[in-house]
Amino acid sequence: MKPAGIYIHIPFCQAKCAYCDFVSFAGLEHLHAPYIQALLREIELKSPAWAGIPFDTLYLGGGTPSILSPAQIGHLLEACRRHFQVLPESEITLEANPGTVQNWLPWRKLGITRLSLGIQSLHDDELALLGRIHAAQEAIQAYTAARAAGFENINLDFLFGLPGQSLRRWQETLTQALELAPEHLSLYCLTLEEHTPLARQIAQGLLPAPDDDLAAEMYELAEEMLAKAGYLHYEISNWARSTGESEGELPRLACRHNVKYWHNERYLGLGAAAYSYDGKHRSGNVEHPKDYILRLQRGQDPTATSEETDRQRQIEETMMLGLRLLEGISWEAFSQRFGEDLREIYAQEITTLAEEGLLTIDELGIRLSKRGRLLGNRVFAAFLH
Ligand code: SF4
Repeated sequence: MKPAGIYIHIPFCQAKCAYCDFVSFAGLEHLHAPYIQALLREIELKSPAWAGIPFDTLYLGGGTPSILSPAQIGHLLEACRRHFQVLPESEITLEANPGTVQNWLPWRKLGITRLSLGIQSLHDDELALLGRIHAAQEAIQAYTAARAAGFENINLDFLFGLPGQSLRRWQETLTQALELAPEHLSLYCLTLEEHTPLARQIAQGLLPAPDDDLAAEMYELAEEMLAKAGYLHYEISNWARSTGESEGELPRLACRHNVKYWHNERYLGLGAAAYSYDGKHRSGNVEHPKDYILRLQRGQDPTATSEETDRQRQIEETMMLGLRLLEGISWEAFSQRFGEDLREIYAQEITTLAEEGLLTIDELGIRLSKRGRLLGNRVFAAFLH
């Protein structure tokens, strides 16, 4: 049985960033303690259904998990270890905002093995435009301090395609990021989400609209610079530093938890707005932390939606998620999972996408081409029937 992953959502932030539409709230400090209590109850409530299933990844995401105290996160980890079969060599990731932590040692002592720092830019004016709570220097200090505290596996998140951002400024951010030599880099193109302050400012003409062609150039520049610096590109937006040893199909320093999503494997989501997938059902919890807390205080299950995924849906999801990985989807893995030949089910789509130069086909399987990585959504849509 393949081990599953646990995701814990912490929906609190110190301030709401100007571009963010994640389920995260600022100004709810009074809910932090009851939210932890509610999570502890949900862990107990969900454990029978996941009994006997080993877990080898645990991901604390948000929001800003590092806004909580190490003691609070420690309670959650301890409860997970007590109620679920968390394997000893598990990857345990903490998402952290560089503006929230002064001392990393207590975090390291919790057994967190991987840190993911949301840095986003190394230019102060860009950070201000994004509404981030930290300056570039603070982000670098947070990284250095985390290293000194013993974190050996650190991811840095960056955004590109910002309003007014030039190729040169993106290059400067990348150059500085590479000087830090993190184990992992996640680079996302900014998406303008409706109803966010940033989208409003652009709609009102107060800021220039992001330029798609320039964003594509930024992505290609990142691909080049990171390859030269020894990073292995393994997912559309993710790179892992090469360890110099044999890496296998995925780099050793790839985020094992996120790979479970891309391989369409099982995971248990805990907390407000968290999603779970048990291999057949996708279910999601109530979104607002207040509703989540109330439900658990009443001893009720916080699940708000649940749907069974039929075989066709499982195939489509496996295609959409799997093609995000640069290794793509192998003929063999697909036929082992679904008992059918991918070349037959999607013969027409594969031929058309290959002719358009978006997919590469070889004896092992299919994967996005360089051009396909820029137009991923067009490729994924072709596999939805
Ligand atoms: S820190 Fe992250 S989750 Fe919180 S508001 Fe900013 S982008 Fe959103």
